[in-house]
Amino acid sequence: MSGKQKKLLVRIIAAALISVAAQTLLRGEALGQILIAAAYLLVGLEVLCSAAGNILRGQIFDEKFLMSIATVGAFAIGEYMEAVAVMLFYQLGELFQSIAVGKSRKSIASLMDIRADYAVVLRDGKEQKLSPEEVEVGETLIVRVGEKVPLDGVVTEGRTTVNASALTGESLPESKEEGDKIVSGAVNLSGVVKVRVSGRYEESTVAKILELVENSAEKKAHAENFITRFARLYTPCVVAGALLLCLVPPLLFAQPWNEWINRALVFLVVSCPCALVVSVPMSFFGAIGGASRKGILIKGASYLEILAKTDTVVFDKTGTITKGSFKVNAIHPSNISEDTLLDIAATAETYSNHPVAESLIATHKGHIERSRIHTVSEISGMGIKAIVDSETYYVGNGALMEKIGAVWHECRLPGTVIHIANNKEYLGHITISDEVKDCAREAILRLKALGITKTVMLTGDIKKTAEVVGREVGVDEICSELLPAQKVEVVEELLSQGRKTVFVGDGINDAPVLARADVGIAMGALGSDAAIESADIVLMDDELLKIAEAIKISRKTMRIVKENIWFALLVKALILALGALGAANMWIAVFGDVGVMVIAILNAMRVMIK
Ligand code: ADP
Ligand code: MG
Repeated sequence: MSGKQKKLLVRIIAAALISVAAQTLLRGEALGQILIAAAYLLVGLEVLCSAAGNILRGQIFDEKFLMSIATVGAFAIGEYMEAVAVMLFYQLGELFQSIAVGKSRKSIASLMDIRADYAVVLRDGKEQKLSPEEVEVGETLIVRVGEKVPLDGVVTEGRTTVNASALTGESLPESKEEGDKIVSGAVNLSGVVKVRVSGRYEESTVAKILELVENSAEKKAHAENFITRFARLYTPCVVAGALLLCLVPPLLFAQPWNEWINRALVFLVVSCPCALVVSVPMSFFGAIGGASRKGILIKGASYLEILAKTDTVVFDKTGTITKGSFKVNAIHPSNISEDTLLDIAATAETYSNHPVAESLIATHKGHIERSRIHTVSEISGMGIKAIVDSETYYVGNGALMEKIGAVWHECRLPGTVIHIANNKEYLGHITISDEVKDCAREAILRLKALGITKTVMLTGDIKKTAEVVGREVGVDEICSELLPAQKVEVVEELLSQGRKTVFVGDGINDAPVLARADVGIAMGALGSDAAIESADIVLMDDELLKIAEAIKISRKTMRIVKENIWFALLVKALILALGALGAANMWIAVFGDVGVMVIAILNAMRVMIK
């Protein structure tokens, strides 16, 4: 509990003791009434002041206003204890809520804790402790055991293991040695390493994630916006209703004033929308916080809402369903040596971050003279064009060869075939193959168990390879040989059939599809900025099982939100009806308001528990 919360608790207890003592020992005496009034102010003054403040600012109708007129009214008709009780329980509810919200903030804060407070930099041969923002690209950091890696970079000296669980939810440590990339936010576990900084703090993984989490609160779900709009309209209606209730019967039907003022006050207290205003945003907040601890970053409550209704999941193949690290199976050159063909392919691919490129470069092993490469242009979904020395090379699939008019031929072997041409002259092809991720089949099965009626795999790869992969993992539909724009068309077709469609990709050649689907989920976001930016949900590692997990979280959240809305509305409607008939007193009204709020908050807290 914070200091402020403790003070409020003390005031609540003191007010309860004073008012109960005054009521029992000094019943009917002037001193007793003064003490009860004092107890009222002890818990209520704050509420009265903030209601008055809101009125001055033009925001008249909020729950504090309802509480203020209800209790002042109760005092006016001599219901002193009731007035104290309403304020007391209202404040108790507020206290409860602030503790609960504090708790879910903390779980997001633990994610926030990925930012290192300082970076130790080697400058002029001396170690300096700077804030991460002050470090420049290319400088050398020293990261000791137990410290967080402050910026993204590459290990230049030493070896260690790091734990990136705060980022990915994956608690197995990874080993890192010279030449390995290391991400900011990971904790250094076992050895001192030197790291060459590869990007400034603003561009670092940590900064991107923090920004994403901070902004997520702004993308409100429909349910949340509905509650805000509802409260704005609803409160004036309630006040009007209460006015009618206390004016009409006494004026028109000569009923006793006291009785009907009392009923109107009961009506006001019950009508307070606290339970909804507090519990709905809290459920979303809790779900986003809980998911982030598992390495699932959800950019806004609205995506949880849509995800819960999903019936179709579309996957990209390379890097999403498959590992994206190809092995070279065969090199089939025409008229040149195998080594030369691989050398040309790897050199042309030097600046590409496509999984195909990375695999060719990794197989090549030899040194690549970067100054030989002049211009490189990526032809999305087909391959690459590079000018090396003064020759123009094309490296890519059959469609690319068609496009440039080279005379090429297919390969007999299974796998993804990468063709290489020098201008129109065909130089041969390299056959590479990828492995399906271990959990891919299981991930699809779990989606089906959740009632997802359609799973689709899209790829720019050739049909033969696509079918082998698709059948192995068990997707319902396979679409191959697609350009990025055609992938968008497939998704649009599904959307036009009224399907709530999720697209899962890695952000390479599929950013437009990620953006177009109802919900775009990017995987393996550590290191890929495009994915983090164009997706709605970001999985920090590339574990496909987390998709089912995310859907489960979203459904649970929506179920709880709906339970709370219905429960609150029903209980209140019931007490309102009783109040209008004169069968409910102020005490029942207090339960109707505070009791429902406490129950709704407790229910919302279930979101955060597993
Ligand atoms: P996927 O849909 O499986 O993720 P892409 O749309 O990224 O695949 O690419 C489709 C095909 O285009 C690949 O299978 C590959 O043959 C070819 N291709 C794309 N980019 C490159 C590249 N940089 N180098 C070579 N081939 C590429
Ligand atoms: Mg891809």
